[in-house]
Parts: sequence; structure tokens; C-alpha cells
Amino acid sequence: MLELNNLSVGYDGRYVIRNVDLSFEPGNIYTIIGKNGSGKSTLLKSCSGLLTPKVGSVLLDGKELSKYPANQRAQKISYLSQSTNTPNITVERLLAHARFPHLSYPKKLRQEDINIIYRALGDMKAACFIHDSLRELSGGERQRVYLAMQLAQDTPILLLDEPTTYLDIEYQLSLMELLQKLKAQGKTIIMVLHDLEQALKYSDQIIAIDAGKEIYTGTPDEILAGGILRKVFHVDVQRSDYRFELKNPAAVSSEAVITVFGNSSCRSR
Ligand code: ADP
Repeated sequence: MLELNNLSVGYDGRYVIRNVDLSFEPGNIYTIIGKNGSGKSTLLKSCSGLLTPKVGSVLLDGKELSKYPANQRAQKISYLSQSTNTPNITVERLLAHARFPHLSYPKKLRQEDINIIYRALGDMKAACFIHDSLRELSGGERQRVYLAMQLAQDTPILLLDEPTTYLDIEYQLSLMELLQKLKAQGKTIIMVLHDLEQALKYSDQIIAIDAGKEIYTGTPDEILAGGILRKVFHVDVQRSDYRFELKNPAAVSSEAVITVFGNSSCRSR
């Protein structure tokens, strides 16, 4: 289990997140929401161990996360950041890296690792990219490969920063379905999402950051009933029979509720 105890984090002399207590239980999906710059990525990075607490602690199974050797931490927690620089590497090589935390020296892939890599690529409909250079892929294709890499790392805790970025709606929905399956296997999913409808629909718990003020947590129903979205985003959101509708300021609703994984081919080009 991952726990944040009285956690305050920030950059240089500035605090972004203050005095947060949260615990993340296995078999649940937690989604962090909030306006731009409110500290969502900062909170997620703290959970990954990439940011050191200014005050308080991050505990993994009762032990300070910073006390884990990098290899052991990577066996437990995987982290998908918002993509920045694309390394000059093939998809095959990239995916092999995901298995390294599980291998002892000389880090030679076993058949079991190769199977896991292919299953992960298959889950993201990305197996046909295996021999491609990462740089040759489109943004969405690359995102699917990064997601496959995270799946191949096969950790009990998955941190995902805006995982639906660049993905077509079909792949967004298939990813949400896949996360439900991982949750059913007992994994802990903690992610940042921009799409409020998806956040409310697929999460067990919402963590809503009101920039510089408070952090609210609750089930989607509690967040809706408590008027938290109005506090945080200044919009009114209502639950309708089949979807959540954003009423204000501009109506942004989605009909895209269903079918995932249809007959789509691996390549969209
Ligand atoms: P969000 O993910 O909600 O958009 P972030 O966590 O990325 O917000 O950023 C929260 C605040 O921290 C912002 O004001 C941002 O400018 C600042 N910030 C983020 N990363 C850094 C950094 N590496 N150095 C200094 N300030 C940063």
C-alpha cells in the first residue's frame, strides 16, 4: 500500500502541495483532477519517488519510499510521465528496459519476459511496431508503446500522468477498460486525467486539487454531491442517465460511451 503522510512538496523555496494525507489501497482506481498548474503532476511525481518531500513522507508497504533501492522500487511502482523527449531507440529495446528491474545481472531476457512484453504490446494493439524506431511513430502510436512499456513492467502500483494524451477515443476507452481489468487483478492505479467524464466514470476515488488551497477526496458521487467540481473548476456538472454532462461554461458532452477494441488495425497510418 502507498501512503502519503502529512506530505508537502514543491520546487525550490515554493510549496505546491501542503499537508496531504492520503492512502492508496490495492484494487482501486484513483484519479487526480484539478486545473492547470494546480499540482496534479507534482502529487503523482511524489508518489513515484521522483520528488523528495519537503515535509512528511511517502510510505510504500510501511517503509519510506526513498529507502528502497531503485531496482526494488521499479518492481513495485511504474510511472508514465507526460512524454517529452523521445529517445532514439527501437520499440523492442524500449520494452526490454521495462523488464530490467525484474532481472539480475547480466539482465538477459527470459522467455517469460518476452511473453510479458508481447502480451503488453498486444494489450495496447502495438505489437506491429516492435521493430520500429520510437521516433518514427505518431504521437498516439508512441503513447500506446509507452503504455505497453508500463504494462510490461508489471508492477502492483501504476502511476499514469494523462495516459490518454494523443489517443483516439477508441484507444482512450480501451485503455479505461484495461485499467478496470488491472484493478480487478488487485493493482493500484493512480492517474491524472483531464477528462472529467472519464474521471467520474472510471474511478473509485477522485482526488480534486483546488490550486493552492485544499485537496478533496471522495467517490465520484461524493465529489458530485459535495459541489467540489464547482469549487475547483467553477463549472456545474450533473449526472445524466448515460453520461456526465458539463453544463457550464460551454457544453462539452460526449456520446462516446461504448465499443472498444472493435476491428481496428494496429497501425492507423
Ligand atoms: P498540473 O499537473 O496540475 O498542471 P504541476 O504539478 O505540473 O501542475 O505544476 C504545479 C506548479 O508547480 C506549477 O505552478 C508549475 O509551474 C510548478 N512546477 C512544476 N514543475 C516544476 C519544476 N520542475 N520546477 C519549478 N516549478 C515547477
